[in-house]
Amino acid sequence: MTTQTAPLISIRGLVKAYDAFTVLHGIDLDIAEGEVVCVIGPSGSGKSTLIRCINHLEAFSPDSTITVDGIRVEPGKALAQVRAEVGMVFQSFNLFPHMSVVRNVMLAPMRVRGTSAAEAERKARELLARVGIAEQADKFPGQLSGGQQQRVAIARALAMEPKVLLFDEPTSALDPEMVGEVLDVMRQLAGTGVTMVVVTHEMGFARQVADRVIFMDGGRLVEAGTPQEIFDRPSHERTRGFLRAVL
Ligand code: ADP
Ligand code: MG
Repeated sequence: MTTQTAPLISIRGLVKAYDAFTVLHGIDLDIAEGEVVCVIGPSGSGKSTLIRCINHLEAFSPDSTITVDGIRVEPGKALAQVRAEVGMVFQSFNLFPHMSVVRNVMLAPMRVRGTSAAEAERKARELLARVGIAEQADKFPGQLSGGQQQRVAIARALAMEPKVLLFDEPTSALDPEMVGEVLDVMRQLAGTGVTMVVVTHEMGFARQVADRVIFMDGGRLVEAGTPQEIFDRPSHERTRGFLRAVL
């Protein structure tokens, strides 16, 4: 297929501003299908804003372009198509508290794809088993630990069979003893060839799992490279300073 070499996500000149305050100063980034990209950098550097622009949870400058699987990300009809292809996992899980775990996972395929309840439930239970919480399926989110809730959120994102999964600090709200179980699920997913963009402070995970690590600072993509390049021989002083502070 000739399309195989085209990037799945293409970001060109991405500018995002709040009035006079510019948050992203022109980001260029291509992400290939199957690639696992970890985004690191200090708080306030624009990491969340960058990934939220990919599915247009944040509006951005009309001069900027983002395409996902060839579809231009912009307000309008095509946005639903982009969002159906882009799964998102947030720091704070964002599960529906009044719905059972299995219903949470069934909802989007039924609403957006028109999947039958029976098929959506079969798939949801399969996904919950895949993230290791099959036995929690009929409970409510509030009855689960944070780590279990985040695994539900991952199953929910996977239920739409997205082309790419975006993670915004998925383990930052978790008690330390639950971080590992969520990272294990993400590591396992990465091994299945799912395209992933992961904003994270888990440097061990980034080093081990990422194909490419991106360091952001002050709304700019300062450098990108393999985990070895970024962690062992960063080119920029800002990257070295950040890594000294967090490692
Ligand atoms: P990170 O995820 O790297 O911590 P963010 O993308 O959340 O950074 O934020 C980048 C910058 O944008 C920060 O300086 C933040 O204060 C600013 N910002 C985020 N949301 C808003 C908003 N709604 N209004 C004004 N500034 C914002
Ligand atoms: Mg953030």
